[in-house]
Amino acid sequence: MAEHLEPILPGSYLGILGGGQLGRMFTQAAQAMGYKVCVLDPDPDSPAGSLAEKFIKADYTDSVALKQMAALCQSVSTEFENVPAQALDALEALGAFVAPRSSCVSIAQNRVAEKKFLAAWKAETNIGPAPYAVIEHDADIAHVPNDLFPGILKTARMGYDGKGQITVYELTELAAAWAELGKVPCVLEKRMDLDFEVSALVVRGYDDAVVAYPVSQNIHRDGILHTSTVPAPSLKPAQEKKIIEAAKALIRKIDYVGVLCVEFFVLKNGDIVANEIAPRPHNSGHYTMDACVTGQFEQQVRSMARLPLGDTRLLAPVSMLNLLGDLWFDDNLSTSQEPAWNQVLSHPDAKLHLYGKSDPRIGRKMGHINCLGESLNQARQNCAAVAVELG
Ligand code: ADP
Ligand code: MG
Repeated sequence: MAEHLEPILPGSYLGILGGGQLGRMFTQAAQAMGYKVCVLDPDPDSPAGSLAEKFIKADYTDSVALKQMAALCQSVSTEFENVPAQALDALEALGAFVAPRSSCVSIAQNRVAEKKFLAAWKAETNIGPAPYAVIEHDADIAHVPNDLFPGILKTARMGYDGKGQITVYELTELAAAWAELGKVPCVLEKRMDLDFEVSALVVRGYDDAVVAYPVSQNIHRDGILHTSTVPAPSLKPAQEKKIIEAAKALIRKIDYVGVLCVEFFVLKNGDIVANEIAPRPHNSGHYTMDACVTGQFEQQVRSMARLPLGDTRLLAPVSMLNLLGDLWFDDNLSTSQEPAWNQVLSHPDAKLHLYGKSDPRIGRKMGHINCLGESLNQARQNCAAVAVELG
């Protein structure tokens, strides 16, 4: 970096684009350290907007709003990858320190760019993406190699929690599947024989220091993260080392400042495949809030404020359980009731986090619980017990 900038100290404003639960937990971490927070989000009832000292209700590309934010905040970050790159560029042009930069965020906005990126660095990271083909035109379909089937067709943009994905068993089904997704740009990825899924969480500071958290093992249900457990029960130490080295290499490659999550598949044959990256704190890293010396949102604050990064050491084994809106409904999906918080809160090792969303919906992330334990087994048992009580 050309010029050296001083750290931004408590008392100052930090800005965040997006007021969802990630923005909210960022806000809480920043405020705990004495910072003020400015949230920009179009939703008047965003979970973070109600906590922030300054809430700007506007579209992300609203130039007046961006000017207002840049006037208040020396440093700005984003809670989600789909924020328009032009918003981040505009903030940078207005003099804000933007971390991560738009060039880093845009890789994660588009699966085509993301797969190319992961493939390009395979020689250095030793871990590449699953075999894939890009589908952007009708003519691309005929060129798709047969060994990509069965495959998963994924929209290049705006996919999350398994949305925008269709399994395609053979080439003859591909055209119909692509039409079903609206013929938007897609990648067709070979469906891999997964043993389990993990994610690496790495952070890079303004001073080029890179730290890594212990890798979490993730279980998804219906495409949505269900639990993350650390230490990863099925991961061999050599695999964990390889995964962490790969994630550290990636974050350095793109000169990325901030928190970066990289999702990996561990295959039945022991091979490791890189799936996708998230340029922000990640759901699978929520365990760090209670189980590590420094939580991922505090690291986001530190990286934005150009402070030295915090220690990532794991203090206790942990299993994180996501709380979806489904818990508010009975089996007939008719009545809506509060989950049994009294039962959850009676567990001394269970740390409840709710995101302040008033409107529970099926599949909506409402909160999470970090279940700690003296041993890995104890953490998993505590998590299972809490899950049973919630029904
Ligand atoms: P999202 O952006 O919705 O998280 P992902 O690409 O991570 O999309 O896919 C969601 C889930 O689908 C993964 O966590 C994994 O369980 C499964 N999946 C995705 N791609 C593959 C693949 N190539 N082979 C096997 N399973 C996959
Ligand atoms: Mg994913």
